[in-house]
Amino acid sequence: MTDHKVALITGAGRGIGATIARTLAKEKMDIAIVDYASAETAEETLQAIAEEGVSARYYQCDVSDFAATKAAVDQIVKDFGKVDVLVNNAGITADKLIMRMDEADWDRVLSINLKGCFNMIKHVTPYMMRKRYGRIVSISSVVGLMGNAGQANYAASKAGIVGLTKTVAKEFGARNITANAVAPGFIKTAMTDALSEEQKQAMYKLIPLGCLGETQDIANAVKFLVSDDARYITGVVLKVDGGMYI
Ligand code: NAP
Repeated sequence: MTDHKVALITGAGRGIGATIARTLAKEKMDIAIVDYASAETAEETLQAIAEEGVSARYYQCDVSDFAATKAAVDQIVKDFGKVDVLVNNAGITADKLIMRMDEADWDRVLSINLKGCFNMIKHVTPYMMRKRYGRIVSISSVVGLMGNAGQANYAASKAGIVGLTKTVAKEFGARNITANAVAPGFIKTAMTDALSEEQKQAMYKLIPLGCLGETQDIANAVKFLVSDDARYITGVVLKVDGGMYI
């Protein structure tokens, strides 16, 4: 079994998850990436992780699939011997006003963003309990705290993560497993790159710090919450949003 801590990160093929994976690799953690796309999309990330002198493996899996997530977690434990850190990062949007949102839009977003977190927590915690150690961080959103027109499904899923996190903190605290959430504001990713300059200017007005966040800002918060410095922190929602929601 590896001497390193082992971090399982969902949706780490690209975006915020990829930066979290690289950041935890720098902390000398071995990395298991669980993502929907094929392994090729994560090649650059896997290469960057390997350069940190830790192991990295890729597991193709849909986090909304209960049986597939169980198989992936069991395989990860076979390959690495344990899971110390779980970062639930995989998430999607399917934005529409409720008037136009259909049942499939609702179900898809809830099953990936919220049930996906439950699936991973359900399958990982038995292993964490045996080791009497675990750090769970789930990526919520400020939208889950403040609501947002056109994002009923997404906001509900991200608010659900807050309730789930607080419950996990209470159920597993006695086993030295912490559970926290990070709530990003607007972060520079492919999604926000697509916005017009006008839309960006309108966004900046909502953010006291006056700029978008970087994926590294989110990864830094995750790094802290899974570190020994955060050993006495559980059940919190850490907003990383430039003050967008105060
Ligand atoms: P992203 O660039 O779209 O990346 C999301 C990742 O999740 C992708 O690798 C995607 O895989 C994967 N994924 C999607 N569905 C999946 C599934 N069913 N099973 C496994 N993996 C799946 O998103 P991001 O901007 O980095 O966001 C990461 C997290 O932060 C999300 O939970 C998001 O809601 C949250 N967040 C983002 C922002 C922001 O401003 N960007 C703000 C607040 C919260 P594919 O490559 O196959 O699509």
